[in-house]
Amino acid sequence: MLGLLRQITQEVTDAQSLPAALDIIVRRVRRAMRTEVCSIYLVDNLTSEYVLMATRGLHSTAAGSVSLKEDEGLVGLVGRRAEPVNLENAQAHPSYCYLEGTGEERFRSFLGVPIIHHRQILGVLVVQHEEQRRFDEGEEAFLITLSAQLAGVIAHAEATGAINSISADQEKMAADVRYKGVPGSSGVAIGRGVVVFPPADLNVIPDRTTDTPETEISDFYQALEAVRTDIRLASDRISEHVSEDEKGLFDVYLKILDDDSIAGEIVRKINDGQWAQGALRQVIQAHVKQFNAMDDSYLRERATDLRDLGCRILSHLQEKGPKIKERFSEPSIIIGEELTASMLGEIPIHNIKGLVSVKGSGNSHVAILARAMGIPTVMGVLDLPYAQLDKVELILDGYLGQVFTYPSDNLKENFQQVVNEERQLEKQYETLKDLPCETKDGHRLNLYVNTGLSADIGRSLDRGAEGIGLYRTEVPFMVRDRFPTEAEQVQIYRLQLEGFAPAPVTVRTLDIGGDKALPYFPIEEANPFLGWRGIRVTLDHLEIFMAQIRAMIKASADLHNLKIMLPMISNAAEVEEALALIRRAFAEVKEEGYNVKMPRVGVMIEVPAAVYQAKELASLVDFLSVGSNDLTQYLLAVDRNNPRVASLYSSHHPAVLRALYSIVDQVRDEGVGLSVCGEMAGDPMSAILLMAMGYDVLSMSATSLPKVKAVIRNITMAQAQDMLSEVMELPHAEAVTQTMTRLMREANVERLIRPSKTTIE
Ligand code: PEP
Ligand code: MG
Repeated sequence: MLGLLRQITQEVTDAQSLPAALDIIVRRVRRAMRTEVCSIYLVDNLTSEYVLMATRGLHSTAAGSVSLKEDEGLVGLVGRRAEPVNLENAQAHPSYCYLEGTGEERFRSFLGVPIIHHRQILGVLVVQHEEQRRFDEGEEAFLITLSAQLAGVIAHAEATGAINSISADQEKMAADVRYKGVPGSSGVAIGRGVVVFPPADLNVIPDRTTDTPETEISDFYQALEAVRTDIRLASDRISEHVSEDEKGLFDVYLKILDDDSIAGEIVRKINDGQWAQGALRQVIQAHVKQFNAMDDSYLRERATDLRDLGCRILSHLQEKGPKIKERFSEPSIIIGEELTASMLGEIPIHNIKGLVSVKGSGNSHVAILARAMGIPTVMGVLDLPYAQLDKVELILDGYLGQVFTYPSDNLKENFQQVVNEERQLEKQYETLKDLPCETKDGHRLNLYVNTGLSADIGRSLDRGAEGIGLYRTEVPFMVRDRFPTEAEQVQIYRLQLEGFAPAPVTVRTLDIGGDKALPYFPIEEANPFLGWRGIRVTLDHLEIFMAQIRAMIKASADLHNLKIMLPMISNAAEVEEALALIRRAFAEVKEEGYNVKMPRVGVMIEVPAAVYQAKELASLVDFLSVGSNDLTQYLLAVDRNNPRVASLYSSHHPAVLRALYSIVDQVRDEGVGLSVCGEMAGDPMSAILLMAMGYDVLSMSATSLPKVKAVIRNITMAQAQDMLSEVMELPHAEAVTQTMTRLMREANVERLIRPSKTTIE
């Protein structure tokens, strides 16, 4: 049963279009369940009707032309109940509705199961028999399982443009198709897409046309020859250690490479205008699909060999291709299956208009970086057919987290107005630069910035930052191919410390693990966010920790504005251990003759354990800084990167607000500095609440800083405290957000943070 389910799901996943996918489902299910009829009805989003989309057993002419209203017939009943309906005599049921032209009058028994994706009914899967008998439990369970597995695939096929509205005409559908994701960084971008992809990952290669097929073909043959040579060499190297039989594996590889049919197919596709990488992907994927569909497990394994070979050829082709920088000759919207912070590092910044990542969410590190750099970004656009979007015109709406493909002139005009208003807001922000962040009734708040790149310094100073509240040192570690040396680190940190002196610069010790991987220090774990992360890694690797601390202290020579911050602290022992090491490093550096002062040391509060121990932790250090990104993730048990649960991730959740309030309560008399450096601090709505709770420093991206300042300067502390009292009573995050939106509108400050011309919902 499992094998059968896997095979059907695989075939459906590989289908080229929605009609093809649906046809496979009805054909395969009818055969597997030995029923006389199998049909699929899908909901038309415009009319809310169930349209018969594919059938085996009913008249095929009915497919596409027969539909039921949402409250009509047994199909409507399945949809309304969102439960299976299993009847031995369908026609005797009061909801039965005869569908003209289908030929279904012969069939007595009926089993319909809903197709549900993300709580939404996509349609109904039906099997029928002439014989009057109830489908048994096993059959019902099979259909339910299959429907649950296929729901995601059908939703994806629908969304990737195969249909938008089932009945809409094709021409209209092409323009303004909207793909929903989550906001990553606010702002609007209008421009053409450039698809980026990690080297040697065949699945993410986009389609692209070529005007020089001869060169592509010659590159392809060279890559093929290079792989042949690699395999022969590997075979020779290993020959002493394995039997002739085992060495046969390499012969299989060589045979596949010599097989003219595969190379021939690729060359034909290139001659038809596809670039070599795209042709390689198409052909390998088609063959892999054939192997995967085979019942024989030995033959299925050949799919793995083929995929492996495809990747090898690809990596040789990529070496020849234009380097990433050369591909960005004009400002573009960068699209990737999973954009990473290090990919960003490779693209000239002035050529990035916007970013779209199929995976990840608003709290992924690439989104945080994008906010720091003020680049409009949409994350988690799971259904985006990104491989087809190279050079395609797009609109990216970072406010609502959506992407439009092939925008019409009308839509472009609307969004261009938003862009124009954004420019005006930016101009207003410039006037705020040297003004203090102070409420109308004189309460002073300090606004710091979060940095990671050296380019952040100028931007932050231009925007009036009063210090650095979080310098993420992992960023310079991520864009290298080995650990930076102590001397290199001194130079990197010095830029930040000097750039801001005499204002404080909070440098965080290396926070890798979780979703932040160093290419040269892979950490493979089943549960990385609960694993070896942040301080846990560095305390286990004293050489890394000590080099970093020594570099920070040396970099602060003569400046004395360094603060050191420890990430992912979950117990007091970690702080004690780190403090001892920092004191030791300080003594060493001083002994070497540097003019340094012992830096102030602080702890990040980002796991629930630290919230409950805030008082004890505060007694050990000089300041606490709440990392609300991780704190929200760990309090709510919601992965900050997972777009599927992005709607559950909210720093306005009452549990998060109470935790934040409790930290202030616990440390009020401890005499420590108290700040928030998670993304929440840069959200003007949350900033008001945090100020009212008693936080005295908020650290955020340079892009958010003027917005927060504009809002704080236009309200009073008394108003902020009233807002806080009102929202602390509310039961859920949504209510907090809505109430704060209303209160900010009433206080006449909403207009200061976003263009009045709203983007298209
Ligand atoms: C946080 O978790 O809120 C934080 C500031 O750290 P990072 O986002 O780098 O994990
Ligand atoms: Mg964190």
